[in-house]
Amino acid sequence: MKAAVIRGTQQIQVEDVPTPEPGPNQVLVKIKYSAICGSDVHRFQYGMMNSGSIMGHEYIGEVVQLGADVTLLNEGDRVVSGGGEPPEGISARTAGDRYSARTMGLKTPPQGGFAEYIVLDEWRPLKIPNNVSNELAVLAEPAAIAVHAVRRSKFSIGDSVVVMGAGPIGLLTMQVLNAGGAGAVYVSEPATARAEAARVLGATVVMNPTNEDVVSKVLEISGGPGVPIAFDAAAARPTLQQGLEMVRRGGQVLVVSMAWEDVDLLTVEWIGREVEMKASYGSQPIDWRTVLKLMERGLLSKQAMVTDESFIGFDEMQSSMERLMKPEEHVQLVLVP
Ligand SMILES: [Zn+2]
Repeated sequence: MKAAVIRGTQQIQVEDVPTPEPGPNQVLVKIKYSAICGSDVHRFQYGMMNSGSIMGHEYIGEVVQLGADVTLLNEGDRVVSGGGEPPEGISARTAGDRYSARTMGLKTPPQGGFAEYIVLDEWRPLKIPNNVSNELAVLAEPAAIAVHAVRRSKFSIGDSVVVMGAGPIGLLTMQVLNAGGAGAVYVSEPATARAEAARVLGATVVMNPTNEDVVSKVLEISGGPGVPIAFDAAAARPTLQQGLEMVRRGGQVLVVSMAWEDVDLLTVEWIGREVEMKASYGSQPIDWRTVLKLMERGLLSKQAMVTDESFIGFDEMQSSMERLMKPEEHVQLVLVP
């Protein structure tokens, strides 16, 4: 089968690799769509993958072959890449107590979704509801990250909140907050296409941090001492400090993005308000189930995120990864293997 294989820092190459075979309690999935995640781009950019690795974790596909003793799935089932409840003794968490996303865990994953086929343990993938399209379902994994972040936060219905960054995670976090009854969602995003997507998908106000002071703007439009929560989905240098400055006394900055370089913090600006910073990483089975329910009920949209221009072939992988290092015009790129 064909796969896009890492061959060094900022090098990804299309190669023929052996098609995997499902063992007992495993299924073979033919991958239909495989979205490129910001974390794949970071791994590509910073050389965090060993040569020979196949990345990609945001894929959907169809079960085409069953290994022995499979009872949970059938041939022809449409599935997302994860979300299943692990059997007893297996942890859904990949991260240990001293886990660092930069130095551990990203180096030698099992084969990922930038390939024509993948073998999965039968408990791992969830079935896609009948009325959910493949083009929406391919957003399930990042949407589970967004649901997890909102669940980890102290968001409650009616809150007016800020989302910094309108990449896929920011846009999905905004949609989850709206589905959860946010009073308003103010979005900060410098890239034009992403700012436009935020408008289309229901942002109350979209701010441009390159030409406006987003902290003053948030205080002005929220009409007071700051918002209760700001989500950092940007991983840009100034956003953590901005978030800590724009929340009110006792407010919370929920960090869902990973910055790969030092970020500046000036504690004297916000420490007096006893604000709180909290991290969110990955997702749990309940987050995936929530996502599929939200999709089934029409509460999450792919509009302006997955469009006709999103789809690329294997031959465009190298150039697409390079383009995504500076995501000016694209929101989401999706490999069609
Ligand atoms: Zn991802």
